[in-house]
Amino acid sequence: MGLDSRWAEAWVRESARVIAEHRTELIALDREIGDGDHGENMDRGFSAVVAKLDGAESATPGDVLKLAATTLISTVGGASGPLFGTAYLKAAGAVTGTQELDGAALVALLTAARDGIVLRGKAEQGDKTMIDAWSPAVDAASAAQTDGASEAAILEAAAAAAESGAEATEPLVARKGRASYLGDRAIGHRDPGAQSSALLLRAAARTAAEAAS
Ligand code: ADP
Ligand code: MG
Repeated sequence: MGLDSRWAEAWVRESARVIAEHRTELIALDREIGDGDHGENMDRGFSAVVAKLDGAESATPGDVLKLAATTLISTVGGASGPLFGTAYLKAAGAVTGTQELDGAALVALLTAARDGIVLRGKAEQGDKTMIDAWSPAVDAASAAQTDGASEAAILEAAAAAAESGAEATEPLVARKGRASYLGDRAIGHRDPGAQSSALLLRAAARTAAEAAS
């Protein structure tokens, strides 16, 4: 049994909850190497998505992701709003019409999200951006799927890789976004967008594990 629209809704609601919980931490990270608005931007965006979900009927995971995408694009702002918006839009497109996501669909969803961010922001892995969380997550999910892992285990692998990837941004110099203006002064600080991305992927894994239990 795959992950259906109830899982996608649970994922988005859990994302909103963890983003709100980590709002201050994300603000602090962005204050160190940016302008300090990332936690506020993400919290505003995901709160708006939850408000939209409350009044919507979503038949498929793709419907949920599309609603998240359009709302994030219009509410998050900053550099990250269009990037996350594109990620969710491309993720939705990768699973359009599918009722239940199996492992292959999840890998397609995550790959499309990552590719959407790259298309929009042109960052490569190692540039100290959210891609440093998303790219290892896609690789780990893909490897887990090849090994025959369950949907929950695929997302667990993605979340763990995103968390390591976010941590690995700390020693890097930024080559994209606001932090790139800082040169060596960005060294020693974790990228806020990589950290929020890891939180979103952890929320995906947690809700998938709950759906499977
Ligand atoms: P802003 O930088 O406009 O204040 P946010 O603070 O909301 O926007 O988001 C900052 C995050 O956006 C960074 O931590 C980084 O992860 C991400 N980011 C910025 N530029 C890019 C890019 N070109 N590609 C991928 N991610 C990027
Ligand atoms: Mg900012």
